[in-house]
Amino acid sequence: MKVFVIDLSICNGCYSCQIACKDEHVSNDWTPYAKPQPDTGQFWVKILEEVRGTVPKVRVAYRPHLCMHCDEAPCIPACRRNAIYKREDGIVIIDPEKCAGHRNCIDACPYGVIYFNEDLNIAQKCTSCAHLLDNGWSKPRCADVCPTEAIKFGEESEFTDLIAGGAEVISPELGLKPRVYYLNIMKRFVAGTVYDPEQKEVVIGAICTLTDTKSGEKSTVSTDNFGDFWFRGLPEDSGYDLKIERDGRVKTFHDIRTKKDVNLGDIPLT
Ligand code: SF4
Ligand code: SF4
Repeated sequence: MKVFVIDLSICNGCYSCQIACKDEHVSNDWTPYAKPQPDTGQFWVKILEEVRGTVPKVRVAYRPHLCMHCDEAPCIPACRRNAIYKREDGIVIIDPEKCAGHRNCIDACPYGVIYFNEDLNIAQKCTSCAHLLDNGWSKPRCADVCPTEAIKFGEESEFTDLIAGGAEVISPELGLKPRVYYLNIMKRFVAGTVYDPEQKEVVIGAICTLTDTKSGEKSTVSTDNFGDFWFRGLPEDSGYDLKIERDGRVKTFHDIRTKKDVNLGDIPLT
C-alpha cells in the first residue's frame, strides 16, 4: 500500500510540486486515470502558505495539500455512479468515464481536494500519477521533482520508522485513515524581546519560564544575545503564564493563548 510522507521541515515553498502537477495533467488525457486538468482553477497538489507571528518574529510555513487517499474515504460511497474506487495499492481514483458530474463527492470530502471541471462536467483530483506508476515510475511527478526530497512516496513498509517517529495526518479526529503523512507539522510559538528601558539595552540571559495553565507543566529558556526568547513546538490553542526574571526584576504575563503564534514584542524589564 502506497503512502506519501511529507517532511515540512525541508519544504521551502518553491512550488515545484504544484507546477509539476500542472505540467503532467494540464492538456494531457490520462483516461482511464484522469482527463485533462484545466489550465486554471485546479491544484491537485496545492501549497498552503501560512505566515506565522508578527514582525520581526515572523516565520512562514508551507504545506503541500493533496488528496489524502483515505482508507475510509467518504467520497467513495457518496458517488451515485460508483465512479470512485480505491486501488489495491491504496490510491483513490475518480473514473473520468463513469463520473456524471453530480458533485456529491466534492461535498463529502472534508479535505477540499476535489475540483469540478465545468467544461468536461466531471470531478477531478490527485491520482498519485497512477498512470506513471503503472508504467514503470516509482513515484508521482510532485515527489520526483521536489528538490529537497520533502515529498517521499512509496510502500508504507519503507517508511515504517519515519511514520512511527512522529508523523501526523491532517484532521485525525475525522477517522478517515489518510495515506498522506506529514513530518514536522509546525506548532505554535511564543516569543518576545526583553530590554532594559533605563540602559536602553537588550537583556541577555533573562530566565523565561512558561507554565501551562492547565497541566502546570513548565519549560524554561534564557534570552539570547539579542534579548530574544522563543518557546517553540507548543500545541494549538493552549493557555500559558509567562514569568521573565533577571537580577531581581520580574515581568509576568497571564493566559497567553496559542490559537495563533504569539509575538509579545519588546518587553521592558523594570
Ligand atoms: Fe516544498 Fe518540495 Fe513542493 Fe518545493 S517541491 S514546495 S520543497 S514539497
Ligand atoms: Fe476522497 Fe477527499 Fe479522502 Fe481524497 S481526501 S480520498 S477525495 S475523501
